[in-house]
Amino acid sequence: MAQTGSEPTKRSVSQHDDVPSGPVTLASPLQAGIGPRQAALFHRAFGHETVGDLLAHYPRRYAHRGELTALAELPAGEDVTIVAEVKSCSKRAMRQRHGSIVEATISDGTGILTLTFFNQAWRANELIPGRRGTFAGKVNRYKNSLQLTHPDYELFDDPSESVVEAWQIRPIPIYPATSTLASWKIAKVIRETVLPKLSDVDDPMPAEVAAEHGLEQFRVALTGIHTPTDDADWRKARDALRFQEAFVLQAALLQERARLRETAATARMPVPGKYVARFDAALPFQLTDDQQAVGEQIAHDLAQPVPMNRLVQGEVGSGKTVVALRAMLQVADNGGQSAFLAPTEVLASQHLRSIVAALGPDLSAELMPTLLTGRLSASERRKAMLRAISGQAQIVVGTHALLGENVSFFDLGLVVVDEQHRFGVEQRDALRAKASSPPHQLVLTATPIPRTVAMTVFGDLDVSTIAQLPAGRQRIESFVVPLAEHPRWESRVWERAAEEIAAGHQVFVVCPAISAKEAEEEELEGGDDDADSARPPTPAASVEQTLAAVRSDPRLAGARTAALHGRMSADDKDAVMLAFAAGTLDLIVATTVIEVGVDVPNASAMIVLDADRFGVSQLHQLRGRVGRGGVPGLCLFVTAAEPGTTGRERVDAVAATLDGFELAEADLELRREGDVLGSNQSGGRSSLRLLRVARDGEIIEQARADAGAMLDADPHLEGHPALASAIASRLTDRSRDFLARA
Ligand code: ADP
Ligand code: MG
Repeated sequence: MAQTGSEPTKRSVSQHDDVPSGPVTLASPLQAGIGPRQAALFHRAFGHETVGDLLAHYPRRYAHRGELTALAELPAGEDVTIVAEVKSCSKRAMRQRHGSIVEATISDGTGILTLTFFNQAWRANELIPGRRGTFAGKVNRYKNSLQLTHPDYELFDDPSESVVEAWQIRPIPIYPATSTLASWKIAKVIRETVLPKLSDVDDPMPAEVAAEHGLEQFRVALTGIHTPTDDADWRKARDALRFQEAFVLQAALLQERARLRETAATARMPVPGKYVARFDAALPFQLTDDQQAVGEQIAHDLAQPVPMNRLVQGEVGSGKTVVALRAMLQVADNGGQSAFLAPTEVLASQHLRSIVAALGPDLSAELMPTLLTGRLSASERRKAMLRAISGQAQIVVGTHALLGENVSFFDLGLVVVDEQHRFGVEQRDALRAKASSPPHQLVLTATPIPRTVAMTVFGDLDVSTIAQLPAGRQRIESFVVPLAEHPRWESRVWERAAEEIAAGHQVFVVCPAISAKEAEEEELEGGDDDADSARPPTPAASVEQTLAAVRSDPRLAGARTAALHGRMSADDKDAVMLAFAAGTLDLIVATTVIEVGVDVPNASAMIVLDADRFGVSQLHQLRGRVGRGGVPGLCLFVTAAEPGTTGRERVDAVAATLDGFELAEADLELRREGDVLGSNQSGGRSSLRLLRVARDGEIIEQARADAGAMLDADPHLEGHPALASAIASRLTDRSRDFLARA
């Protein structure tokens, strides 16, 4: 049977003379598989370097040739497949342009159809009258006749029923493509050039695991996913490859976790009568049961001679900071230092203040908690660095600046990372490298993480949860103010703000942008990556405009107001935050710099403008700023987004529940997949292909269990060399991506 296709260029496109002919493996350089010219194209378009990279470029979906249609009932504008006989064929030169047209007519006995090809004169050599074949394409009407332009067709040497049927049900793989590399071209290179000369394929899946789950072998799956003969083919292939992906990922994470446990760390036992004991004795409240339990886990971890790597998740206000502080004190009991990393400078200075306050003057004087951030003056910074390297400061609070090359510690025993989502795997690694023996590590997050995400993103960490809130927390009520349906309700928002202020409370107003001019830009500091990428055309509410409107609103006359955003000087920001905390400001209009951690017990209302432009976790975090003290919280999410849009769904989801875990699951469903594991968390774009954490929770859990069992039996993968090298090349991809970003 003659193999043809709808390729708008000559058939010899992939048969360059420079394609080497020998067999290849997945590890072979791509040029050995498809020749240097094509390899360069694929490298430029997709970063492929090896044959394995190209074969891991899986189809996005599969198209189908339509059901067989009789020519008599052809619907214009639809995709059809017709079995017919070539009746005539002619070739002529185009008058206007330099080129040719081939026109053929085909018939199935019920009607006649014209096929048209531009600049493909060679078609005339195969569309010989009398030959039968199958023709597929979109029907268009041209000068009163129906035609197919550049149809996909196949001519039969053996026009029997079964051949016709096989061709018709064969799915057409549709690949992620670029303007230089069309999907059909990728398909053709893989089908005709690479797969036929692919020799050995090392299967990373242990045979017993594959057998247990009825998974195809790697080689079979690669063929099935790229050149399926029917839908069942690619489905089976996809299942096998998806499981393999989950399995290799989990094996890598578990091995990393085991490796960390093999390194030695300094054990830090609590010392009776020292800092932890003194702190606990002075604590003005009782720890919740969860704080107690998590505290014990951490205390136990710290006392081991292997590094702790623990994630503590707990709602905003659940008291994670106290738990972390007690861990730092346990390290200090042994003379060790702790580094506390916050996502922003405002938060770092606030953490320092609250740590100093919580410790009280005596403990503070002894432990010398010290701020070390990028914005300190040169001399302050030198002083802080000196305190860190001399070991004088036993608690050092900072931002990313603590990751700076020239910051060192005398005896770094513990790193606490607050609000994990801004610190990826690489940052964790950089910090681990700060100490001569790896420090213990505690990651705090107020964004509850669905179990499968935790396993994927933090698979190298142990996870603890603080589910309880301390007693006496106030209710928070959340409302959506849907301007799309009720534009007048906006006015009521400002009335409510005035009422709260009249009652002696304070109000936060949060905007997506700083100034009208930059309303289209992302707020960089404190900005998150999880809001929609597709923006509505109207500019976002800005701090400057909103503040001006608030100040000229007669209902808010007399309110003491200020702006707070990332482009203010650090001192100005601090001054505003301090004034607000002290109650000398009634209302601040801010960007998400106030998103995490800021603690103002008298703040009762949070008004988020253009709430649809924020992510689920941001909205939840913002809401957590109120209801922290003696006054009930009110949260108003103002949005002009139409019901049914993703942005609106996010807002509705957050307003509907205060349960962070429920929200995390909802978030997972609402987010586009790539966002779930933001580029700095996913370990690089190459790490997830077919696997989707939102959908494949069961697969991930199963794979983790299987990988764990296998690693227990064979910790160094001596009996599983193919898996070991799959893990190694995964890690290479990761560092390659990391380097590319740096
Ligand atoms: P998180 O960091 O989890 O958001 P914090 O540790 O900042 O929460 O705690 C929020 C507030 O609750 C702080 O003012 C803290 O002192 C207080 N707090 C913490 N634990 C308790 C507790 N067990 N009982 C009462 N108040 C507590
Ligand atoms: Mg906190």
